[in-house]
Amino acid sequence: MAEAARFGILQARGRAAGLLLCGLIALAGCKGAPDGAPEAAAEAKPEAYYEITLRPELGADGEVEAIAVTSRLHGVLKDGETRLKLSAPVVYVNVMGIADRIRDLRVTDGAGPVAFTLEQDDPVPGGFPYFRHWTATRDVDYPLDISYRALVQPEGGPAGPAFGIRPSAGGVSGAGAGYMIVPVNSESSLSYLDWDLTEFGPGAVGVTTFGEGRVAVKGPPAALMQGWLMAGPAGQYPPAEEETHFRAYWLGNFPFDVPAEMAYAKDLYDFFGAFFAYLDPAPDYRVFLRQLDTEPYGGATALANSFMLSRGPARPEEMGGQSPRSTLAHEMIHMWVGGLSGEHALTNWFSEGLTTYYEYTVPFRAGRVSIEDYIDGLNRLSDRYYSNPARAMAALEIGRVGFNDGRVRHAPYERGALYFADLDSRIRAASGGARTLDMLVRDVFARRERGEIELTLEAWSDFVSAELGTEEEPFVRALHIEGQLIYPAGDGFGACVRGTPARIDVDGESFDGMRWTRVDGAAPEACFASGAPG
Ligand SMILES: [Zn+2]
Repeated sequence: MAEAARFGILQARGRAAGLLLCGLIALAGCKGAPDGAPEAAAEAKPEAYYEITLRPELGADGEVEAIAVTSRLHGVLKDGETRLKLSAPVVYVNVMGIADRIRDLRVTDGAGPVAFTLEQDDPVPGGFPYFRHWTATRDVDYPLDISYRALVQPEGGPAGPAFGIRPSAGGVSGAGAGYMIVPVNSESSLSYLDWDLTEFGPGAVGVTTFGEGRVAVKGPPAALMQGWLMAGPAGQYPPAEEETHFRAYWLGNFPFDVPAEMAYAKDLYDFFGAFFAYLDPAPDYRVFLRQLDTEPYGGATALANSFMLSRGPARPEEMGGQSPRSTLAHEMIHMWVGGLSGEHALTNWFSEGLTTYYEYTVPFRAGRVSIEDYIDGLNRLSDRYYSNPARAMAALEIGRVGFNDGRVRHAPYERGALYFADLDSRIRAASGGARTLDMLVRDVFARRERGEIELTLEAWSDFVSAELGTEEEPFVRALHIEGQLIYPAGDGFGACVRGTPARIDVDGESFDGMRWTRVDGAAPEACFASGAPG
């Protein structure tokens, strides 16, 4: 279920007129980001900016039925633009009908209401995003008011990330991409997002990826789409009065002790910050958890410095258990790993593969996972990969299947993870043990963060080639793009475990796979050369 939502908008077609929307784990200077205290931001308020207020509306049953949006756009059209344009997703990663749920859209300027003509992109296969576009039929004056009501996503429809706005436990949650229509060709480099929570009782929160309450968000109005939101009588960790860089919010009932599990997640977050090192200090982080009573239940998906875990009602056998800790780890790791530039289907082997590799290895190295559980995890990962019907499928073919098949969609995660385990072994062998994968990725990510490099498949391959003294790109293309099988080096997951080729049985079928076992006498602390359990 776990994924980073770094897809979609980048490959949405027909992007004339500067609909520059960011990859969701935006690393290329396009990310919506908190801008410190509102007062500080106000001092530097540009002439062109966007103000938006969100007012959740309750139905007679006490559940949220819509978010009423009022907004004001200050500024001018971008150079070369002639008519105001607005866009909203028709489909956003398997959330269907978003534009159809925008009601009572009203755009007015000094001359009165503005009328629009409509166009729509061709559908994109796999549940990936495409958009509807509104073009004004006359010139407009600024400031300009845009208001509408976005109905919550109804129950039913295909499974996918939790972008749609859904009611639960008297509140509402989702992502901006799941309900917003945004101006796309006006100059605006800063937005102010605020809440009207009057329909909720006292103590209600309104929070997004960008912060709690009123926040300033850098970037165009579309940057607001790239944030999670939650509003209503949400639980909080730690208590609201406590200062912290790590905060969790939740709506609904969970079969685990949420504050205790969020304390675990915070501890892991701090370990990751020290481990990956290049974001120093690691940014403020927000976790959103929601429990829905009706399908689609969603899953776990990361956006910038935040993730949403969305699930259905607890099953009796889950009660009193743990949270899905490896999923929490996975989603947080996405922030440090980021991704390659380029089309999602051709690059998610890197973002998902490396994130999955670290999901399996770093909590173990942090001492939070026993060696028995570590080995069980590696065998489950191997079993999923070698029995995956898409284990030899090319990247573009997997991309076309998209969200229609969860097994197929996860093949790049699995073979990517095994590639990085194998690569660690190759780097250690080539350097006589002096270098590791961790060292390489820390160097590369620090350079990416400083804006010195654009990390593409070719650039990544060149870094690896320099490390190994052999050409990496043909192997990268054969494996991740064409779908060649990989059997990673036996010491790819550290010195304390050993992988050997083996026939494996999965769901009554037999496959050529691998088995991971403990090396006799090897201590977990000695498994990795660096980052030993603390
Ligand atoms: Zn992921």
